[in-house]
Amino acid sequence: MSRYDAPRLRAALAAVPDYVPGRSPRQGCENLKLSSNENPYPPLPSVVAAVREQAGRINRYPDPACTALAEALAARLDVPADRLVFGTGSVAVGRLLVRATAGPGDEVLYAWRSFEAYPIMAEVCGATSVRVPLLADERHDLDAMADAVTDRTRLIFLCTPNNPTGTVVRRAELERFLDRVPSDVTVVLDEAYTEFVRDPDAADGLAFHRRHGNVVLLRTFSKAYGLAGLRIGYAVAHPEVAAVLRKVGLPFGVSGLAQDAALASLAAEDELLDRVELLVKERARVTAALRESGFDLPDSEANFVWLRLGGRTAAFTEACAELGAVVRPYGTDGVRITVGEPEANDVVLRAAAAWR
Ligand code: PMP
Repeated sequence: MSRYDAPRLRAALAAVPDYVPGRSPRQGCENLKLSSNENPYPPLPSVVAAVREQAGRINRYPDPACTALAEALAARLDVPADRLVFGTGSVAVGRLLVRATAGPGDEVLYAWRSFEAYPIMAEVCGATSVRVPLLADERHDLDAMADAVTDRTRLIFLCTPNNPTGTVVRRAELERFLDRVPSDVTVVLDEAYTEFVRDPDAADGLAFHRRHGNVVLLRTFSKAYGLAGLRIGYAVAHPEVAAVLRKVGLPFGVSGLAQDAALASLAAEDELLDRVELLVKERARVTAALRESGFDLPDSEANFVWLRLGGRTAAFTEACAELGAVVRPYGTDGVRITVGEPEANDVVLRAAAAWR
């Protein structure tokens, strides 16, 4: 055994929570993994072909600027390419945003419950997390969040649809919120699930980004586009912010495989969005069936639903596991269930109806 003297690590890191990923299902039951909001459909043949083609070039570094992808996505979103910053999943880009804006003594504000990576992103950078509880109907309490802004607030995460509750921030309330927040505070709209939104009153991030220089969008190819395993997400940010994010980011952080898969996915977007539509229909079916079984749940605009089960969270998780389905428990708050293929959803619905 080699000698080990504890090195001087940053003491504050000891208190940072670990990110706990969704559990894996029993072997052969991969379609019953409903714990990580993944896309249940396998990659399209054209996407696999693009990855194969790129695999022959992995002895070379990838294009650090993701040039071809930036151009294609800029055209698709109708934003200049210099506003796009890519990273190893949108978690990585979120981390860059915190690193670029907040350090010790600064505050990062977000709703709670929300995406579990936010506290980690903030605290790893030495910033202080400020959490504002969700409203009783599981939506962001934007009035309370605006009240919580101080002269130390540097960055605000608004997760819409919110992970894990599926609720969205509406256009009118976001407008009021942005009027109250100083324009030098970065407001990040985390739109990881934006392709699943059908509520006509939901805030459209791109429209807000165009009007407010401090609004940054965080998006991903992991969910609707089904590329979770390749790790690619991006920010849409003011060019000055984007330039700083690129500086803070790791060079060559996005593989050529991921870049080409994302390009091929954009080319096959219609087909991918048809799949999203199937999941949206399944979401409605799952929601209605759970309500029929007596569960109370908010309307979800994402590819998952949220059951606030309090102290019965673990028991419900176990009831699903007995039928092979893996869902995501959150302490004694509730359970998040990813919407999968119909057969997988049926397993959860059976477990839920029997358990209730
Ligand atoms: N934001 C939210 C709200 C999420 O739920 C997730 C994934 N669980 C992400 C960002 C990160 O996605 P990725 O890093 O795969 O792009």
